[in-house]
Amino acid sequence: MLKGKTALITGSTSGIGLGIAEHFAAAGSNIVLNGMGDAAEIEATRARIAATHHVEVIFSDADMSKPDAIEAMFLKVDEKFGGVDILVNNAGIQYVAPVDDFPVSKWDAIIAINLTSSFHTTRLALPWMKQKKWGRIIQIASAHALVASPFKSAYVAAKHGIAGLTKTVALEVAEQGITVNAICPGYVWTPLVQKQVPETAKARGISEDEVVNNVLLAAQPTKQFVTIGQVAAFAGFLASDEAASITGAIMPVDGGWTAH
Ligand code: NAD
Repeated sequence: MLKGKTALITGSTSGIGLGIAEHFAAAGSNIVLNGMGDAAEIEATRARIAATHHVEVIFSDADMSKPDAIEAMFLKVDEKFGGVDILVNNAGIQYVAPVDDFPVSKWDAIIAINLTSSFHTTRLALPWMKQKKWGRIIQIASAHALVASPFKSAYVAAKHGIAGLTKTVALEVAEQGITVNAICPGYVWTPLVQKQVPETAKARGISEDEVVNNVLLAAQPTKQFVTIGQVAAFAGFLASDEAASITGAIMPVDGGWTAH
């Protein structure tokens, strides 16, 4: 049970992040939602999670590509809850193109949102965790933190960077009751993956059906998408006291993809 704890999940208005927010709320944690989207829909989600699980849920629209906005989000959260006990760095975007055609603006955005934002949230969350001598930092990395795929240069570089950040911070705080780990999902059917199907079809010169069956699911020996619930449950375990000895670990949840 995470009663009385506060969990901040970046990029939690959709997909995996929203699933993790629901999972932590069900375990009794107060929640900070963050992300982009329709304001009315986000407010409905915020209110529903709060009412269903009898926890406090607030929302920050901080843009994870902007360090000032991340700092403002932490000021708001610190004022409301004192600090963040569980930080889930989940916000992420994808773009698929050959490296010599890769738009510079997309490279910069992916590195900022998928990698640099985790540096900022981590440095801002740690003082409270150190004071409490308890904390959990969970990165939603990717199988692409462990292996590469063509046409995803920025994403693979950012996710490999997250693996390095995870191990480094884990070593720095190991004696202070704080664990830092990376979950590396294979393909999960979320808007992020749905959007890359046409882009991948174009980059590889194949149909969208072929992308799903011959590229995405071909990578996973189980031939199944990983589910949001599976990733959220694993994040929940990493936040528990039973997982206190798991730190600095880069862990696949990928249907066997990286066993190849
Ligand atoms: P998604 O598109 O459903 O969700 C992404 C979330 O990030 C949304 O809430 C979005 O609003 C938010 N976001 C995007 N840009 C942002 C910004 N600048 N500032 C703040 N929030 C922003 O995608 P998803 O599949 O749920 O992805 C979540 C994470 O999981 C990402 O880091 C992704 O790389 C990782 N991941 C996904 C898969 C997959 O197959 N879906 C696999 C491995 C890893």
